[in-house]
Amino acid sequence: MRFALLVYFCAAVTALHAEQPFDFASTPGKLPKQVRPTDYAIWIKPDIKKLTFAGRETVKLNVEQATFQLVLNAADLTVSDAQLDGKIIPRTKFDAENELLTLTAPEELTPGEHTLALKFIGKINQFGRGLFYGKYQEQGTGAKKIFLGTQFEATDARRLFPCWDEPAFRARFQLTTVVPENWMAVSNMPVATEKKVSGGREVEFQPSPSMSSYLVVFCAGEFDAVESDVDGVKLRITTTRGKGESARYALEVTAQILHYYNEYFGIPYPLSKLDQLAIPGGFGGAMENWGGITYYETALLFDPANSSAATKQTVYEVIAHEVAHQWFGDLVTMAWWDNLWLNEGFASWMGTKCTARFNPQWEVWLQKNLPRDPTRRTGIVKEQAMEGDAHVTTHAIQQKIETEADANNAFDDITYKKGQSFLRMLESFLGEESFRDGIRRYIEAHKYSNSTTVDLWNALSEVSGKPVADIAAGWTEQPGFPVVNVKRETNNKVALSQERFTINFRDNAHFTWKIPLTYLIDGQSAAATLLMSEKTVTLEDVPADRALKLNVEGAGNYRVAYDEASWKLLLATLPGMNVPDQVNLLSDAWAFVQEGRQPLKFYTDLVDRLPASTALAVREQIINSFGSIDHLLAGTAERELFRRYARGVLRPTLDALGTQPKADEPATASLLRASLIQQLGLFGDEDVIKTCRQNFDNYLKNPASVPPDLRPPTFAIIMRYGDATTWQKLHELGLKTASTEDKQYYYDAIAFAIDPKLIQKSLAITLTDELPTSRAVFMVAKVARESDRPDLAWEFAKKNLKPLLAKVDALNANSYLPSLFAFFFDPARIEELKTFAKKNLSEASRKPVEIASDEIQFRADFRKRLIEQIRQ
Ligand SMILES: [Zn+2]
Repeated sequence: MRFALLVYFCAAVTALHAEQPFDFASTPGKLPKQVRPTDYAIWIKPDIKKLTFAGRETVKLNVEQATFQLVLNAADLTVSDAQLDGKIIPRTKFDAENELLTLTAPEELTPGEHTLALKFIGKINQFGRGLFYGKYQEQGTGAKKIFLGTQFEATDARRLFPCWDEPAFRARFQLTTVVPENWMAVSNMPVATEKKVSGGREVEFQPSPSMSSYLVVFCAGEFDAVESDVDGVKLRITTTRGKGESARYALEVTAQILHYYNEYFGIPYPLSKLDQLAIPGGFGGAMENWGGITYYETALLFDPANSSAATKQTVYEVIAHEVAHQWFGDLVTMAWWDNLWLNEGFASWMGTKCTARFNPQWEVWLQKNLPRDPTRRTGIVKEQAMEGDAHVTTHAIQQKIETEADANNAFDDITYKKGQSFLRMLESFLGEESFRDGIRRYIEAHKYSNSTTVDLWNALSEVSGKPVADIAAGWTEQPGFPVVNVKRETNNKVALSQERFTINFRDNAHFTWKIPLTYLIDGQSAAATLLMSEKTVTLEDVPADRALKLNVEGAGNYRVAYDEASWKLLLATLPGMNVPDQVNLLSDAWAFVQEGRQPLKFYTDLVDRLPASTALAVREQIINSFGSIDHLLAGTAERELFRRYARGVLRPTLDALGTQPKADEPATASLLRASLIQQLGLFGDEDVIKTCRQNFDNYLKNPASVPPDLRPPTFAIIMRYGDATTWQKLHELGLKTASTEDKQYYYDAIAFAIDPKLIQKSLAITLTDELPTSRAVFMVAKVARESDRPDLAWEFAKKNLKPLLAKVDALNANSYLPSLFAFFFDPARIEELKTFAKKNLSEASRKPVEIASDEIQFRADFRKRLIEQIRQ
């Protein structure tokens, strides 16, 4: 025991800077390193009726040390006919739990080249892992169709073909498939040859450059495509038949984005073509497969007549993120999943930078400072990461990943959003050009290979001359982030001190961060910077009567708590303060209320003192915070009191904007109007409810009469105050439409019903095939949240565990059930969840269970505080 404690203590002290530059031999992973695949030739023939496939592959191997055994990955495959250098392998062993296939050669394999040949059969899945299928209604004809797609990240390439399925085992992949005669097939590389064979068409693709197995892709179906080119690269967007025209916007922006990255990275996009596919189901989000990116349909298609402004922005942002991965992730790949943030934090930052550059009117960086609200837009948001990162259940950006299941848990807000937000802070500290030159050096040094975080820091240090690894360590190797306390002293001095910012727990670890501080003294023209390396630091020459604003424009990943004198001075400057700084103050104030450092009144006083404005980011911050408060007040008498106050705050902004679009208004006005209508409607504003009813009547007569941005709030509000007939109407509309975007709006609205009978009907939709599986399963969480009846949602999930989990993809498998508990605020539910998890869930769900338990406890305490404070 004592020994163990001692070891733990040493580990804690030496944990920072422990990482080494990329080295294949010492990269973590399960597979032995003495055998490396160099070239795969894979042949796959799907059987769409039986939902199985037959496959064979030959793999060229480079044996570096003599061995008898080959150890590689396979999952849910039946392997037969294993041959090595043309001789049958007599002994093959399959370890299903560890997804390992061990082949023992009849004689020792000598160093040098060898060839492995395997035959196998596998399954076509209903959920987005390995090879999967999706069903959809065809646009125009309404005919029921099926398509095939793959999703491999993190560890599911092994479900399509046996392989060395760890990112450091790069190889060239050459794929051949047999598809029905009238189907189109798409993979990473262009088609080399095609020929007619029995049962369809055999399509042979060109071999890929050296890459990781999780980036292989294969999709096939009855598709349409639109094409163009940029900088000598052939661009193509592929959709299911009838939807090609909605791909024009994606095609246009991809050309802009790819050209920008060609310049930024200094190495042109390395393949001859870039395919992007809009897939109506099977998985959600998007996946950066090299040369063949897949997207859930609504993340790629934009129909100018019917899509909302939010969809347009999402499409741009997601493309910018995925195309950035073609370099950062695909050309250079993280060595192991503990550095997933290198891929995701970077692509998120780069995608946002690119989106902001070409679309300044969207104010994307500002919107990234808004708090989390899963029902709103899917932006990659700094505040979301900071909320999660303040809780005890957070982790360092760089985290230990031992198993495949752990790899899937790593795709969270910390990895994406804190990673992005740290890179933004670092870029502004090093300077834009210096940072870009460091990135160029890094890409050049590691192209067609792998890397670790330290490799990136080294490249940035060499170019900038600054100790980047030293500054970064606190941010990427420690959990959490700091709050800087500001205290006025005599003689124009201001004392700053840092501590970890925590919600719902106390931290005794005494972490320190090297904070690239920015601050502005009122009256001065430019902001000053200071690297705060110690626990405390003193600013000199800050006049006692001048306001001091730290974290200029909220670009830094820290909070600032001002003493009373400083806060008063700051409040007095509010009328002239720019929008980003206003949003920053609101975000910090709201976090302090959640923390318990300040009462609700501290936040509402700030809200009340803000100048009237229709700035989207300011009002969205307030709308989201008010929405959270409202959910926590469910079932209390205080709720109506709060709603009356909230209506009074929000209504003047809607009156200023008007309930109908105006010619020449900025895109942000339309988004804000939609948010205000939805929130005011939910808060019971009678005029707004009337407007929504009128809009819906008009919509039924002529859909074009209601602008796309106003449709989701209109549907939600008429359902909230509607009955069984309203539910029926929305459901019929949802069943009828072939547009994935419209369908989502109708079904999202259904979740706003509050009559228990209707709630049951909404939940039951999850088990039908009306929605793509990846969307259907989220209906349960959506209902839990919007109806304020998580109890009904949970009862339903418990009763239908098996069919529900059969629809969940790899990324959500561990967290799906625990996350349903995050809508409760009764502490008794914590025990219930833990008992349930022990009996029914795997070890990989342990972390999601902890997160949900902490969230329930936090919500319980916060609710109690809010009720008392509102009563007062
Ligand atoms: Zn990504």
